[in-house]
Amino acid sequence: MSQRSIRKVLVANRGVPAVRIMHTCRDRKIPTTAVYSTPDRLAYHVFMADTAIHIGEAPPVESYLNGDRIIEAALSSDSNAIHPGWGFLAENADFAQKVIDAGLIWIGPTPEVINLMGDKIRAKEIARQSNVPTVPGVENVTSAEQISDWMRDQGVTFPIMIKAASGGGGKGMVKVDKLDQIAGALAQARSEAKKSFGDDTVLVEKYIEHGRHIEVQIIADEHRHVIHLFERECTLQRRNQKIIEEAPSTLENDLRQEICVTAARLMRRIGYTSAGTVEFIFDPSTQSFYFLEVNTRLQVEHGITELITGLDIVSLMLDVAEGKPLPIKQLDVVPNRWALEVRLNAEDPKTFGPSFGTITRLRAPLGPNVRVLQGATEGEDIPPYYDSLFMLLMASGTDRADALRVMDRAITGDLRVEGIKTLAPLLLSIIRHRKFITGDFSTKFIEQHMPELVSGFLERTSEDEMLRVARYVAEISALGPQSWM
Ligand code: ADP
Ligand code: ADP
Ligand code: MG
Repeated sequence: MSQRSIRKVLVANRGVPAVRIMHTCRDRKIPTTAVYSTPDRLAYHVFMADTAIHIGEAPPVESYLNGDRIIEAALSSDSNAIHPGWGFLAENADFAQKVIDAGLIWIGPTPEVINLMGDKIRAKEIARQSNVPTVPGVENVTSAEQISDWMRDQGVTFPIMIKAASGGGGKGMVKVDKLDQIAGALAQARSEAKKSFGDDTVLVEKYIEHGRHIEVQIIADEHRHVIHLFERECTLQRRNQKIIEEAPSTLENDLRQEICVTAARLMRRIGYTSAGTVEFIFDPSTQSFYFLEVNTRLQVEHGITELITGLDIVSLMLDVAEGKPLPIKQLDVVPNRWALEVRLNAEDPKTFGPSFGTITRLRAPLGPNVRVLQGATEGEDIPPYYDSLFMLLMASGTDRADALRVMDRAITGDLRVEGIKTLAPLLLSIIRHRKFITGDFSTKFIEQHMPELVSGFLERTSEDEMLRVARYVAEISALGPQSWM
């Protein structure tokens, strides 16, 4: 529990998370080391860092997942701490342990806690023991009969959800609507789980229909202070992965209090330290929430919590990693705004297929109450090997309607991305949808309204702008000189 001082941080990541972490390091005058793969040699995070070290070729296993090479890079660059960001090695307990064994500071929760929560079956077990409600389910399933027996014995009706025990990012998850689909769905979930996570253990849960995804941000230190930074709603998803998030949620105050306190209680019970999130699925028909999982890392959507609380979560992670007590108490956390985030992925907004290539034009929105986090700059390539997220757009306001207005202005007013396809048209269509505006949505919103959303797409390019200029010139030359010229 002794205090230690962070001298230089190696950021074991690329793109958006790497850039985000380096911003806080700069604020705190802590130098940084970037690591990069061959296709990333000209990437934004490489330019932002004080030192940059090449760690291997494009495939993640040869570079951003090569823990030994990353630790060597930290030692050779005189960095004494490693921040993993999200994705890649962020939830890899073995890597966290190796970092500590190399005498470096790990900026994240302990390897024991990462390990404990990395398995959804064990995490659910701990939640149950801590009196945190969980979704009814059955674990370690290997046959279709086990599933149908469980449904019959417990009186569970379709739909149900088969999930990879070590899953993440919405992978290895299959919804089942009918009896004759069970065997096929089980085989699919297990093979996806094996391919993505090297582990085909699955669990089965009752599928919560019209559910909403609510999660609680936690920050905790080594001195047993565990506080929550309130909740976020991340119900807008495609393929069980979030694309729009907001803070706070539309939960009533007493429910908000209950879910936040429950999350903090669970994290205190497991001896959590650093930043982490407890995810829940909320059933509006019964007004009940159920534990889903704990993400033992900084999350993509942490920025909207920063906007409503005024805190810097990465900075708090650095304090905790140095062994310091948290500089704030629960009562100091007083959210006083509404914030929204949209994920700009390099993806086709109609098919969700990846879109690679060079960003030929990139203009970020400006103006009051906008926060932009760019993982890449104009002229850079979006390589096909990594996550497609390249930019986060956040908007805040005094209330939800105000934040929505700012987001609309940010997307329609200034944002220009060319050379690659992005989710922007879809995101705009969603935030303008009547049901999204009135708060009438569930995790199936995008699936249910896709044709309508696509018909509202507004795509604008340089060509449109050039056309406008051309029209103007034509008008002027037809009318001759004007009095105001
Ligand atoms: P959030 O941080 O909001 O929970 P996601 O669940 O979408 O966001 O995951 C964050 C990022 O990490 C995504 O880019 C996702 O692809 C990646 N990711 C999440 N879990 C894993 C995992 N187990 N293995 C590899 N990548 C993961
Ligand atoms: P991951 O590790 O991939 O993030 P989660 O367990 O957090 O997996 O679930 C991701 C999303 O999948 C949830 O936000 C929700 O939309 C959906 N989901 C997961 N479990 C259920 C369930 N039992 N019922 C309904 N939706 C679910
Ligand atoms: Mg999750």
